[in-house]
Amino acid sequence: MIKRPEKKPIKDFQLPNFDRPSIYTLNLDELEALAVEWGEERYRGAQIFEWLYIHRVDQFEEMLNLPKDMRQRLSEMYSIAPLETVVRQESKDGTMKFLFRLRDGYTIETVLMRHDYGNSVCVTTQVGCRIGCSFCASTLGGLKRNLEAGEIVSQIVQIQKALDETGERVSSIVIMGIGEPFENYNQMMKFLRIVNHDDGLNIGARHITVSTSGIVPRIYDFAEEDIQINFAVSLHAADNDIRTRLMPINKAYDIEKLMDALKYYQQETGRRITFEYGLFGGVNDQPEHARELSELISGLKCHVNLIPVNHVPERNYVRTTRDDIFTFLETLNECGVNATLRREQGTDIDAACGQLRAKESKEETGE
Ligand code: SAH
Repeated sequence: MIKRPEKKPIKDFQLPNFDRPSIYTLNLDELEALAVEWGEERYRGAQIFEWLYIHRVDQFEEMLNLPKDMRQRLSEMYSIAPLETVVRQESKDGTMKFLFRLRDGYTIETVLMRHDYGNSVCVTTQVGCRIGCSFCASTLGGLKRNLEAGEIVSQIVQIQKALDETGERVSSIVIMGIGEPFENYNQMMKFLRIVNHDDGLNIGARHITVSTSGIVPRIYDFAEEDIQINFAVSLHAADNDIRTRLMPINKAYDIEKLMDALKYYQQETGRRITFEYGLFGGVNDQPEHARELSELISGLKCHVNLIPVNHVPERNYVRTTRDDIFTFLETLNECGVNATLRREQGTDIDAACGQLRAKESKEETGE
């Protein structure tokens, strides 16, 4: 039986302070409470929720079954347009990248991927990132701020609206865009519960995956949540020296601390863990690294997802050769590890893993 260390407080730093908060930040309970606070019936909250997530209206004015003065008050107090679409780019393989402008001028990227099993959205949780992984584009300008829950929810709503044009739906979500989701923990959890709600977008927990670089205290918290979404960890090395070189966060939370937290997660949830393992040419991509990895994770119910490094101009990592990629995969399989190679999508529009960036300039209008 593994015990968790003492709880560490969550600091939700650098949240924006807009005069009119995004309406998408309010969950159903909060919308109902708001209606009551305004002297209206409680069910008005559920009506707003339905307008936002079932009818997906663009303006409060369109919420026709609400009293007129309530619609008026909503538009004075809340924003229903926290994101503006600046660019919508489509890749040869159908992947779409959206550049959204936030109300304070920052821009973020969100990606829609097409699979035979459905449409998956890769959402962003922060403007930039402060984790500093040495191979990733998202961290190049540092962290500007956290996104509020509504700005994350709104990415899904905007993409669902684009899919409405062809009668399709967002069927799954990966929280693998810009930012470290476990550094914006409360807003991320709130986002999850809103998009998962069965009176709204109803995206099933089994179809949602969150990925972390390994923020250990939050892994303990996440193990105790009552929503069981899929969980992925960016490991990239089974050796502390190599991992620190790739991911400086390993200095704060090394592999031993990370593995303890993951064992606790598995004990509490019984769920399988996905390890993301980027293959960086000449760094971590040889058969001995595969064997080391298989030893490290041998006690866990898990799966390894291999990601050959994607090109980031500012970074000089090189691709592992095709032969070496397959040798790595086979070595893992021979050691009894369940492993697959991640299918690449959207590389031609810089929409693949690690290529997304937050653009700082408040004047910027796109590429
Ligand atoms: N911050 C979270 C979410 C990002 S998920 C995390 O670190 O897990 C995106 C995945 O792509 C992570 O596993 C990340 O390490 C990986 N990645 C980042 N840059 C990459 C690159 N240039 N090539 C391949 N994978 C990369």
